[in-house]
Amino acid sequence: MTVTGGSDGVAERHGGLEVPPGRLFIGGQWRAAADGSVTEILDPATGAVMTTVPRAGVRDAARAVEAARIAFDEGSWSGMNPRERGRILLRAAELLRGRAAEFAALESVNAGKPITFTRNIDVPTLIETFEYYGALASGIEGAARPTGRPALAYTRREPVGVVAAITPFNFPLILSATKIAPALAAGNTVVHKPAEETPLSALRLAEVLRDAGVPDGVHNVVTGDGTAGESLVRDPRVDKVAFTGSTSVGRRVAQAASERLAKVTIELGGKGANIIFADADIVAAIQTAIQAFVFNTGQFCMSGSRLLVERPVYRDVVEALADACGHIPVGDPFAEDTVVGPMAGPRHLAKVRSYLDRAASDGSVRVLGGGNTPADSGGFYLAPTVLDGVTQYSPYVQEEIFGPVLTVQPFDTEEEAVRLANGTPYGLAAGLQTGDIGRAHRVAAALRAGIVWVNGWAVLDVAMPFGGCKQSGYGRENGPEGLEEYLQTKSVVVALG
Ligand code: NAP
Repeated sequence: MTVTGGSDGVAERHGGLEVPPGRLFIGGQWRAAADGSVTEILDPATGAVMTTVPRAGVRDAARAVEAARIAFDEGSWSGMNPRERGRILLRAAELLRGRAAEFAALESVNAGKPITFTRNIDVPTLIETFEYYGALASGIEGAARPTGRPALAYTRREPVGVVAAITPFNFPLILSATKIAPALAAGNTVVHKPAEETPLSALRLAEVLRDAGVPDGVHNVVTGDGTAGESLVRDPRVDKVAFTGSTSVGRRVAQAASERLAKVTIELGGKGANIIFADADIVAAIQTAIQAFVFNTGQFCMSGSRLLVERPVYRDVVEALADACGHIPVGDPFAEDTVVGPMAGPRHLAKVRSYLDRAASDGSVRVLGGGNTPADSGGFYLAPTVLDGVTQYSPYVQEEIFGPVLTVQPFDTEEEAVRLANGTPYGLAAGLQTGDIGRAHRVAAALRAGIVWVNGWAVLDVAMPFGGCKQSGYGRENGPEGLEEYLQTKSVVVALG
């Protein structure tokens, strides 16, 4: 990719980081879109245009699939010894480690994430994911199966084929890695379609994978809007679709993939319930509740965006949260003390604001916190806000708002807490804060979610699978389960005499 420098002001504001104009990465070549169209990429902290990337259309998506198909069928990657593939992924992890500061800055500048988070969470997780699946690759093996017949029978673990990896705007690097690393470890080839607003780090990742030794055509990136994503999903040469995004788009993706019986995993929205029991360490529980809803400016599928509090401590917890909202540092993602950066783009900000406007005119809801954002920056800022007095079937409780907004509801019994927690269409993440070990296990078992945290929130590790139930999707990412999604089993039976 040619680096020609970013638009006015970007390099200066971010310590000399150059923001390159993007190119599609297809078959090992950097290209413009076939029709020459581009998308402007905005700086979320100022609203200014930073650079452009091609807006891939149907022809570009088809060209990328063709490159991935040829690379898969030709077999130099899919037929490579898994240990050798693993070595290449480990080399990629090493290269990423050497460029960690650059990747953290690029992710912050494009997605508005605080630099302390990209440095300490996003980029280390990216590196660990390539290390983890690089190491796991050497364990990909079949097994001999005794059959009781005059035959030698064994299984082979084979890649699925061409994978379309479609990712959302909120964790560009991490969610690219949770698909690309296991898909490549298993021997698949990939066409990656990052989110329209936050594609820059995915393009840099392509450079690193190429430099690590991933052959041309094995990993391809098409930037652009949903048109490119939809073309990938409908292309009969794509064997598997790995999608992370909203439930509404995920439903369309699953439908289109199932029409042609392509394998599909879909990781969708969430509305995580965090339960505080009166027997918890209340000071720690309040701290956890704050982190759970402001992390990543609330643009987190596993956000603890619904707080359920046992009635005896309800008022104290709500007042403490309201007070805390006014003190959480909201501002420039590159300031070391920023906890809440801007939202990633104007459409996300507008969506979240529409819920807050509705709440403000709803007589029964108390809107606490808010305000307190950098004045006149032009950035997409929103301060943490708490909604008290909401009812279970209100939109604030049932719908994913996807911003730093927390609903709070009281409960009287453990059964009621579980019923309220499970009472939305989603089932991605949940948690409880308690000092009672028996209750911890009982409630963890009763919550309908892909992951449950006890006395904490968002403790994630590449070794632990995550994924949804109900309207939060199906399939698992991370852990050995994440590799399984990209493998299929073939039986070979050799007749003996
Ligand atoms: P989105 O609007 O559903 O978009 C996700 C991706 O799909 C983007 O790359 C998007 O491209 C693409 N796309 C749009 N229309 C498509 C179509 N018809 N066919 C194929 N691809 C299409 O989601 P988002 O707003 O970027 O992300 C936020 C959502 O993701 C939230 O609901 C969040 O909960 C969810 N999420 C889930 C997880 C999880 O692990 N379960 C993790 C993170 C986020 P464009 O960007 O160009 O529209």
